[in-house]
Amino acid sequence: MMVEKTLCIIKPNAVVDNNIGNIILRYESEGLRIAAAKFTHLSKEKAEGFYIEHKGKPFFGSLVNFMTSGPVLLLVLEGEEAIKRNRDIMGSTNPAEAQPGTLRKMYARSLEQNAVHGSDSQVSAKREVAYFFDENEVFTRF
Ligand code: ADP
Ligand code: MG
Repeated sequence: MMVEKTLCIIKPNAVVDNNIGNIILRYESEGLRIAAAKFTHLSKEKAEGFYIEHKGKPFFGSLVNFMTSGPVLLLVLEGEEAIKRNRDIMGSTNPAEAQPGTLRKMYARSLEQNAVHGSDSQVSAKREVAYFFDENEVFTRF
């Protein structure tokens, strides 16, 4: 087992729907810790850079519009196997396919507005945490 950090974004739909607390409670009750947090409104440039791997796909423009439509809460979650555990807690990208009890099943509005983001690998977690947080903004307890 390995202690990891992963980036979570509580997306604009979950902020508007007043589910920030529900989502954080879920992570904490699963034993993940918040190592960093920032409430912010992404610029178009910042959102495009974050989702650069999807540039050129048909949903890219709409995704960037959505992600800049309101504030987001950026979180760094820390814990044993945090990357995979966050993906499991979130559920499938498409809420229609997500398991009952997953965050996306409970809090998504649609495939696009699916409530939360989670890094999908160690490489992306490292990039994504550094994309939003300076080293001195991230706290480690382990
Ligand atoms: P994940 O967030 O599960 O890693 P992807 O990296 O494939 O999923 O996609 C990034 C985000 O883009 C998704 O979380 C979702 O908000 C949006 N998205 C993905 N596929 C589609 C699609 N076919 N139509 C609309 N939005 C999509
Ligand atoms: Mg992804």
